Amino acid sequence: MIKGIEIDSCGRCLHYHTDLDIVALQCGECKQYYACYQCHDQLCDHPFKAMDIRNSKPVMCGQCKNCLTFAQYQHYQCPFCQANFNPRCGLHKDIYFENK
Ligand SMILES: [Zn+2]
Ligand SMILES: [Zn+2]
Ligand SMILES: [Zn+2]
Repeated sequence: MIKGIEIDSCGRCLHYHTDLDIVALQCGECKQYYACYQCHDQLCDHPFKAMDIRNSKPVMCGQCKNCLTFAQYQHYQCPFCQANFNPRCGLHKDIYFENK
């Protein structure tokens, strides 16, 4: 289940809502999947903590709800449903992922 502000069925939120903005990211602190770090920080009592990418699936596809490893996410396409992801999310890697 994806959390966030004004999210739609594919995990788009108030902040990021183009056709490609359908991934959710897991917080290393509360382990919940959020549409984006801004949603997380507005809804949670702690700042978003980057997820250790070793032995984890820090990304959830908003279309098919399968969880992806960081390596799978690097292709910016879901290996399960072939949905395309927004490559511009890569600009925020430091916020979302640790031990890249
Ligand atoms: Zn959290
Ligand atoms: Zn958001
Ligand atoms: Zn998918």
